[in-house]
Amino acid sequence: MQFDLFDQAQNTVLAANSYEEFRKKFLEVGCTQCGLHEGRTHLVIDRGNPQTEILVIGEAPGEQEDLQGKAFVGRAGQLLDKIMASINLDTNKDMIIINVVKCRPPNNRAPVEAEAKTCRPYLNLQIELVKPKIILLLGATALKHMIPEKKNFSMEQEAGNFFIHPNYPGIQFMVLYHPAYLLYDPRKKESMWKHVKKLRDFLGLQKGKESKTFEPLNF
Ligand code: SF4
Repeated sequence: MQFDLFDQAQNTVLAANSYEEFRKKFLEVGCTQCGLHEGRTHLVIDRGNPQTEILVIGEAPGEQEDLQGKAFVGRAGQLLDKIMASINLDTNKDMIIINVVKCRPPNNRAPVEAEAKTCRPYLNLQIELVKPKIILLLGATALKHMIPEKKNFSMEQEAGNFFIHPNYPGIQFMVLYHPAYLLYDPRKKESMWKHVKKLRDFLGLQKGKESKTFEPLNF
């Protein structure tokens, strides 16, 4: 891990040996490495359980997340809770949810490449400490910044796909629509349901269990 872009305070955060230590130090020390710190109320590190096999990566904190200091607690987060509950997953226990950047961009714009790059060592450390077996990428921003060689893709083609990547051995990736996009275009909910059923079947197979039949909730 490269520390040279970061000052001593950030080195302390990035030297954490456990997720709990990382969280505690990050909250104590804060971060001013990119311009997004200027508009934030709280750093938004995550929501959920770091002792899990499922890591979910979204885009950036929104208004509610910034106010509460927790990831995915606004309308999109509540929809994500319902979507995951429809396949029997509890977002607070069965997964940990993080974002590409930890501070809210102005007017909820997508983070730019420089901001995502500057924030990346924190995300890398979260992956390293959680050691997930599956990473769910929510939306185009997460896919673009995690897999930068993917260019000119459309979410219509990518959503619902599984893939592996040589930089992340042992981790299965899956791309899903961002729940904020479903709020914007509810017609995509039907596709989302097909995708989460694939996820449910994949997780069932991983555990060597037969896939149970869940009925879709009205998410
Ligand atoms: S977005 Fe990331 S790099 Fe930028 S100030 Fe916040 S924590 Fe630091």
